[in-house]
Amino acid sequence: MSLSYRQENAKTLAALLGIEEEEAAQRLSLRIAVTFDSKTEAIRELAAHIIEMLRRTVEHAGQPDDKPFAVEIVIGGCTPVTAAPLRVYAGEDGADFVVRETAPLAKCDLLIPRPLLVIAACYVSAAAVRVALSPTFPFRNFGPIVLSWAKLFGDDLERLNQPIDVGEVYLAGAGAVGHGFIYTLRYFDVSGTLYVTDPKKATAGGLNRCLLFDADDLGHPKATRVCEVAGPLFPKLTLVPIDKELDDARKLRGKDFLIQKLVIGVDSRRVRRSLQAALPGTVFDASTTDITEVVLHFNRQPTELACLSCVYPESERERKHEENVAEALGLTIEEVRAGYISSPVAAKICDKYTDLRADDLIGRAFDTVYKELCGVGKLKTVGGHQVLAPFSFVSVLAGAYLAVEFAIRIAAPNEERFNYWRVSPWNNPVTELRQQRPRDPSCEFCSKPALRQVIQRLWKHLRPEEH
Ligand SMILES: [Zn+2]
Repeated sequence: MSLSYRQENAKTLAALLGIEEEEAAQRLSLRIAVTFDSKTEAIRELAAHIIEMLRRTVEHAGQPDDKPFAVEIVIGGCTPVTAAPLRVYAGEDGADFVVRETAPLAKCDLLIPRPLLVIAACYVSAAAVRVALSPTFPFRNFGPIVLSWAKLFGDDLERLNQPIDVGEVYLAGAGAVGHGFIYTLRYFDVSGTLYVTDPKKATAGGLNRCLLFDADDLGHPKATRVCEVAGPLFPKLTLVPIDKELDDARKLRGKDFLIQKLVIGVDSRRVRRSLQAALPGTVFDASTTDITEVVLHFNRQPTELACLSCVYPESERERKHEENVAEALGLTIEEVRAGYISSPVAAKICDKYTDLRADDLIGRAFDTVYKELCGVGKLKTVGGHQVLAPFSFVSVLAGAYLAVEFAIRIAAPNEERFNYWRVSPWNNPVTELRQQRPRDPSCEFCSKPALRQVIQRLWKHLRPEEH
């Protein structure tokens, strides 16, 4: 009963546009050509990222052939070679990377650190999809996308090429954002140990955004599989899979073991919020809001700035959504809040849906199963948007920004340019919207004075400059 990745994309688009799933599938059945000069390695790499993401979003993406295309992406100074009615030009204008519809760009060299090519590819992919789905697509853009690398990551881009030793890091969540993180992190000269934790298994729908997986990986535990696939991409970083939730993974090191560096790519607000209770020293977090935007959040304890619970407070939408899921699956809200399907809960779902098999449900997220059982109409209800899967380039953009900020902040822990930023894949990144978001005085976690004292004691050595 698992949704295919094409159905997953169609469902997202259908709920977003308020159209039937079949029509959405039809609209995504597009062919996009990528024309580039294959003599330059960086350009080849950029094109490969774009093709990898778009082929998981639309019917076909690749180098031009003799079949018709809806859109042609033209990189650098190449001449368009297809009769596609729509074009997206991508390349460099001085030090900036530009994506626009209006006019070709000059020849480009892309002498930028390789992780930035992933970010550029996400914006190019988004622009191509936006152009193809216009004019009824809700995300409009009337000007070019301009990625000013120095404005985004500082004048010294060379530091992104320097070796970084991450020590020991835990990654919670080996799904879409976790994949984007690992996919991008491999372009850094990185050493140390990365523990990858996720209790869930790879599903067919997830193939629309988990770039390191293909059909052979379905049904396997995500953490183990991603480490097997990505391990060879990291000559100096050791990847250790743990097919459990983060807190269970933590306890394997002893019940009082503390995680100093935690990267978060899990897909539920509730789980995200709860991770702060594991008392991590430093948090690097990214999430997506359907296909609309990417949220980045960082915190380093002890701090007077926002924590995960401040950033993802429990909302009415979230409660309503959990109620809907519980009702649809014949469960209690508490059972749904557990995050993923255990074996007794699977048996209970099968009591209600007698054609399902418990074995197919165990270890999966409630939202995934809910989405499979529900029509598009239901997904448009309050909170329903929460389960809409992003397109590949949205999740990868979240993971890519996360990886670059992670690398910057590991190399220079005192560099806290911002702790909260929301970015749209469809528009220019607006650095002016970056915030130093303060602590929420009513936060369910960090508003407790006793807890703040504990954190102060545990992690004050992370801020030696203040003591
Ligand atoms: Zn808080």
